[in-house]
Formats: sequence, C-alpha cells, structure tokens
Amino acid sequence: MAKKQFKAETKRLMELVINSIYTHKEIFLREIISNASDAIDKMNHRMVADPSMDISREDFRIDVSVDKEARTITVSDNGTGMTAKEMEKNLGMIAYSDSFEFKEKLEEGADSDVIGQFGVGFYSAFMVADKVTVVSRAYGEDEASVWESKGIDGYTIKKGEKDTFGTDVIMHIKEDTEEENYDEFLDRMRLRELIVTYSDYIRWPIHMDVEAGEWEETGETDEDGEPKRDYVMKTENKVINSMVPLWQKSKSEVSDDECKEFYKRQFYDYEDPVSVIRVNAEGRISYKAMLFVPKRAPHDFYTRDFQPGLQLYSSGVLIMDRCADILPYHFRFVRGVVDSPDFSLNVSREVLQNDSVLKAVGANLSKKVKAELERLMKDEPDVYKEFYDSFGQQLKYGMVDNFGSDKDTLKDLVMFESSKGGMVSFADYVKNMQESQEKIYYVVSSTASKAKSLPQMEPVLDKGYEVLLMTDDVDPFLVSILNEYDKKPFCNVSTEDLGLESEEERKEAEEKDEEHKDTLEFVKATLGDDVAEVRISRKLRNHAVLLTTTGSITFEMEKYFREMPGGRGGEMKASRVLELNADHSAFRALEDAIGSDKDKAADMVRIMYGQASIMAGIPLDDPVAHSDLVLSMF
Ligand code: ADP
Repeated sequence: MAKKQFKAETKRLMELVINSIYTHKEIFLREIISNASDAIDKMNHRMVADPSMDISREDFRIDVSVDKEARTITVSDNGTGMTAKEMEKNLGMIAYSDSFEFKEKLEEGADSDVIGQFGVGFYSAFMVADKVTVVSRAYGEDEASVWESKGIDGYTIKKGEKDTFGTDVIMHIKEDTEEENYDEFLDRMRLRELIVTYSDYIRWPIHMDVEAGEWEETGETDEDGEPKRDYVMKTENKVINSMVPLWQKSKSEVSDDECKEFYKRQFYDYEDPVSVIRVNAEGRISYKAMLFVPKRAPHDFYTRDFQPGLQLYSSGVLIMDRCADILPYHFRFVRGVVDSPDFSLNVSREVLQNDSVLKAVGANLSKKVKAELERLMKDEPDVYKEFYDSFGQQLKYGMVDNFGSDKDTLKDLVMFESSKGGMVSFADYVKNMQESQEKIYYVVSSTASKAKSLPQMEPVLDKGYEVLLMTDDVDPFLVSILNEYDKKPFCNVSTEDLGLESEEERKEAEEKDEEHKDTLEFVKATLGDDVAEVRISRKLRNHAVLLTTTGSITFEMEKYFREMPGGRGGEMKASRVLELNADHSAFRALEDAIGSDKDKAADMVRIMYGQASIMAGIPLDDPVAHSDLVLSMF
C-alpha cells in the first residue's frame, strides 16, 4: 500500500517535536490518555442522547499496558473509535482551530517548552516511539482500520481486526541512546507514576496491571506452630487514577500552580492566567467552578471567529464544551469550568438560554469575576494593566453594548491614559480633581501623543487639570452612554464649553464677537457649507485656528463611519465649527486683507480652514490645491 504524506504543517510540527531535546518527553502519555478520554466523552454523549445504545456508563474504561519484550506501550479505550476516513482526517494533519497560535509560535522559533504547554496531542507519541500503530473501530462499524507511521516520512492506513469498538494506540518505544533514556517508559512503576501525576483527574477509570508486594501464607508452620509467610510480588489489574477532576477537589487540596497548569492544558494557552477564581457554592443550587482570566487575548478574540464560553459539567460529565450563555458578553474572555449536579445532562442551546439554574449561576459567577478584577486593580495594578492591555477594549464594548445596560457594573474597571501620564480610572480621576474643577475633561484622538498636543488642550492644561486621553474608537460612545461619573459631567475639550471662564471673561468674549462680527461673516461666506459656524475662540492661546464640531457627530465618529466597510459611511459628517484666535497675528493679517484685497483674504481663509483641518487630523478634500494655495503666498 502506498505511503501517504503528512500535510506540510504537520510535518514541521512533528519534526520539531521529535527532534527537540525535549525535557518533558513523558507528557506523551498524558496526551494519548487525554485523547482516549475525549473519545469516551463523545461516546458517553451519544449514549446520553440515545439510551437505546447497548453500552452503559460503567463500561467505559482506558487500559494501559506494557510489553517489555516487544518494547510497546498500548493505550486502549472504548470510545467512539475512528473509521479509516476519520483516521486520515484526524491523524494526517493537525487540527486547525487550536493550533493557529502554536503555528505562529513555531514561526517565531518556538522552544520545546511551548510545545509541551500547547499540548501537541497525538504527535507527542513520536517523542518516545519510533513507530506508532493505531487500531480503531468506530462504533456501529464492523470493520477496523490500522493506521501506522514511523514518523515524518508518512503513514499507511489499511484494514484490520478489532473485536469491539474503540481505539488501541500502540507505541513502539525507541532504543536507549547515549543521551536519551527511553527504557524508563517500559517500566510499569514509572508509567503508573506518570499517570498519577498527569492524568489523575481523568474522569474515566484508567486500568493497569500493577505489581504489589504481599505477605502470603505458605501453608507450612514454623517451630512455634505459626503459619509461615512469604513476601510475594503480585500483579493485579487496578484502577490507578482517582478520577476526581481538579475543580471538584477542595481548595486546600489543589495549589494555585496546579490550577494554572490545568488551565494551560485544558484551554491551550502557553501562559499562566492572571487570575484563578474558585467557587464552591452550596445551597439552593450547588455548584463548583474554576474560572480563569487569561493574560493575553487569543489572536481571534476581537473577531467573529472567537468562541467564548465555559465548559459545562454535570457531576464531572462534560455536557457542553463552550457554553456562551453563562457569563455576560463583557466577560467573554473568561475561561473555565462550571460543574453542578443541578445542570441537566440533556441540554441544548435553546434550553440553556432560558434555564433559571444557569441564570442564577451565571449571575453569581459574574459577580465573582467583577470582584476579582477589582481586587487585581487595587492590589496588583501591574498585573491588572497587563490584563487591561488585552481585554480593556472588551470591557468598554460591554459598557456600550445593549444600550449601556451594564455600564454601572463596568465603569469602575475601565481606565484611560492620562494627560499626567499613566493610566487612570474614573474613580482615580475624580479623586485627583482640583477644588475648582467641576467637569471630567477628555479629549478624543487616534493616539495619546496627538491628543496631548491638540490646541484645545491648552486652556485646560494651563489650569492644571487632568485630561483623559481617549484613543479607542469605542471611547466617545462610552462617554455618551455614561453622561456623568460620580455626579461630575464629562466635557469634551474639543467641542464643548469648557466652563473655565469667569463672568467677566465671558462678557469680554462676547464683546470680542461683536467687534469682529464682519470678519466672521466674511469667513463664513467664503467657506459656505463647509462649516456650520465660524466664531472667535475662547480656547485658543498660542494657535491661530481650531476646527471643532457641533451636534452629536464628532470627528471620531465621522472617521469611524468613514472607515466602515461598505463605504456608505461618508454620509455621516460632523458639523464643523471654525474657531479663530483674535489675538493671533494671522487673524490681524486677515482683517487687514479684508480691508485691502478681498481675493487675497478669501485665499487666507481657505488656508486657515485647511490648516485647522490638518491639526484636527481630518484629511483634506484636495491636498494639492491646498498646498498650491499655501505656497502661492510666498
Ligand atoms: P487534539 O486532541 O488536540 O484534537 P490530537 O493530535 O491529539 O489533537 O488528535 C487528533 C484527533 O485524532 C483528535 O481530535 C481525535 O479526533 C482523533 N483521535 C485521537 N486519538 C483518538 C482516540 N483514542 N479515539 C478517537 N479519536 C482519536
């Protein structure tokens, strides 16, 4: 039979796994056992859905056996099994979904540690075996298939024999070399130790022949008439794992490190989570949960592809891999497991959405997550910052989602860059407010440094007030949904009345408006519908011009809509307001020109408008014409 080639991606991965001087070769057993357990999970699932199947839960088992002579370890399960087609698909290439990030790491030159943490699954067998044979029979099929491979150069699949459904993975262990010891894996004691260390929590019984010494009566008696006894080694087939999942154990039994290891294995992360949240609820609804707040967002987190959700168990039996309906949208980054005997085994998505038990559990877990994030923010600000870099945006989306229904839950978890440096929460901001200060000032721009250098920042910074630098697309929406924090209104320094003037200053300004009325009218007439209003600025100190907006659409929203795919966003335009600094030499030059040369004055107005647009970060309609106009002044 012709040998088939592995997919290129798979080949590279195998090469890396096999050739790396991997320090934790032993994890191969965990991976193979975990696959066996998954296959039984699936079978159990089918059985629950179809009670007419001729198997019972008690029959499920995993068997590990060793043949020292033949140098093989065999892991057998009575799970779903695979057809030849499924073998081709599942063992011929890497499962796509979970290994994307891993592949990225490969490209960056992943080291062996990353491999282990990702759980490369089936291929890890090749770390210790020079030949792997998989004999499998899918449930309901008469025929078995045999997959065999000696490593990177390919594999074969042929027909085979197997009495019952399920899968045997037979690993032919490599010979010892000078550098590497493989014989240890043929030692039963060692294998047992590995299973207890790595696979103790596996929900299905792992059977193995174990040797134990025992005193046995020989049938003879000694000189005192006492029966004679010999110490004999006996082999007994035993279940060697405790089958208690980690989250079912009491808090004192499981260290934080163990939880973190579990997280990385179970959820394919290569980094420790920032938090482990353990809940053991007893009462009307009893449940146990182990939740994790990851450190980094998965590559697809902010896309439609990301599948949020917690693993749902009913008394240790997996009933749903990603149940997205427990935690609210804003906490969709949380991973973990929830286990309750009160969850029904037979669930569908539709049922879940209206399930009152689930709702109650979700509400409680949500509170725990919030409390944990608040604790992090307060006690471990550096860790919170790391978390926030990854998931802060999600919290903000959560605030504006659903017309702001969760804004109060989340408003104390968001942070912004501050004009004074670092990140601040709203609470910090309000605490630091000056006595004379009544508003929470913020500015919207694409980057913090651009925001800081905007001309409209000057009067606020002059007062010594702090300004929140909002750089996310979602930020302006967030402010409009909150409206105020701690009874302090928000004030956009670009578009709103800063409220910094005294009565006297206000009067003075109004007089100024009156004084320059004709100039303003000339400017408005020149620009026509490009601007909604032209006025003398109360904000400008050193700069000559400022473009701001009036009405509900800001420049940021305009930009947001403009860049939206589909191209219809151009219809959403902010109403522009041109502010002029009456004390600036440019303004005086303009007034002179209006008196002497109206054409030149009109050109100057267009230049001022263009410059103001540039400062506001708005693309010019016709940059060439603008540039020509500026240079024509030389
Ligand atoms: P993963 O377990 O992460 O999906 P693996 O490389 O470990 O990746 O396994 C690839 C696939 O092969 C599994 O997803 C499963 O479909 C199949 N498989 C592996 N071992 C078994 C088994 N013992 N019984 C049934 N299917 C298996």
